[in-house]
Amino acid sequence: MNITVLGSTGSIGTQALDVAKKHNIRVKAVAAANSAKTLADQAKELGVKCACIFNEDKKAELDEYLKGSGIKTLCGMDGLKEIASMDGVDKMLNSVVGMVGFEPTLAAIRKGTAVALANKETLVAGGDLVMREAKERNVAIYPVDSEHSAVFQALQGNEGNRIKKLILTASGGPFFGKTRQELENVTIDQALAHPNWSMGRKITTDSATLMNKGLEFIEAMHLFGISADQIEIVVHRQSVVHSAIEFEDNSVIAQMGVPDMKIPIQYALLYPHRCECDTGRLDLTALGSLTFEKPDPETFECLSACIKAIRKGGTLPAAVNGANEAAVAAFLDNRIGFLDIGKIVNTVCENAEYKEIENESDVLEADRLAREQAAKLIETLGR
Ligand code: MG
Repeated sequence: MNITVLGSTGSIGTQALDVAKKHNIRVKAVAAANSAKTLADQAKELGVKCACIFNEDKKAELDEYLKGSGIKTLCGMDGLKEIASMDGVDKMLNSVVGMVGFEPTLAAIRKGTAVALANKETLVAGGDLVMREAKERNVAIYPVDSEHSAVFQALQGNEGNRIKKLILTASGGPFFGKTRQELENVTIDQALAHPNWSMGRKITTDSATLMNKGLEFIEAMHLFGISADQIEIVVHRQSVVHSAIEFEDNSVIAQMGVPDMKIPIQYALLYPHRCECDTGRLDLTALGSLTFEKPDPETFECLSACIKAIRKGGTLPAAVNGANEAAVAAFLDNRIGFLDIGKIVNTVCENAEYKEIENESDVLEADRLAREQAAKLIETLGR
């Protein structure tokens, strides 16, 4: 099998390359945002055909590292799209961060290349369009997000059986159980200290605000063709039950495992095969007990904003996602406080104009307008 990996130097990307090496999957191209040196090292080690650096300012650096290697170098969004639609590729793993992943996903689908999707923003912002095009072209999308992989796994052998309820589990992040007052002066380091999962900075912040669960709520609706009313969010602090499906007969099928992204990454790449995976084993007696609680949507208002947005539909989810990306960047840059992220996401959600999604420019425009509005709010709230 031949794959391409977008976001190859990130947390998901590096683990995916490990899986590829271990299971003799050929990587034909790699792409990263900024890390030219790491990208070049990966490209040479894997003997890829193409390497792409998204940040155009780093292209010269990448060229220098890959001089004489025979590896073609690319940059920018055009480069990502070229890699996403390369000939002779069976699957593209999209693990870039944020809206950047949207156009490459569409490019792969239009080429007829299956997508292993870790970039949830693709479906949050443009899910209507992405799923429609994937269906029309009969292109498979394999979820890499652990919750959606769990649902996908629970659905195996259940084709044709209606999903009554999708139980989306949430770790609750580092601040579960805290009041708004207690969250007033949260630091960047505190927000980045996730109790169970080791992930990149953007998604870890999203986990702390519960925006991540809001994005996953929307992602699940698109992937599995279900309504908002069919999803129940359950806080499960141990991150062992990765999500579950309740069927008509009240039978609940869950997927469990240690919280390690290598399992869903490997399943998405090797589907339908299950092969040895170098994670730890799940030891239930060592765990002793598993707990399940209700989320607190008032304190974690990003979560409610996402649900509001998807209930309204159209370009609203793209708007909340765009606002969140801008707000998280500002928070990680120490320009706004932790709770300001929720304020910004909610304000943009309230003010965004509903528009139906007909094509990608509708999505990109909604994203642009939301970022513009978020930038103004960041200015006002900023310290
Ligand atoms: Mg997840």
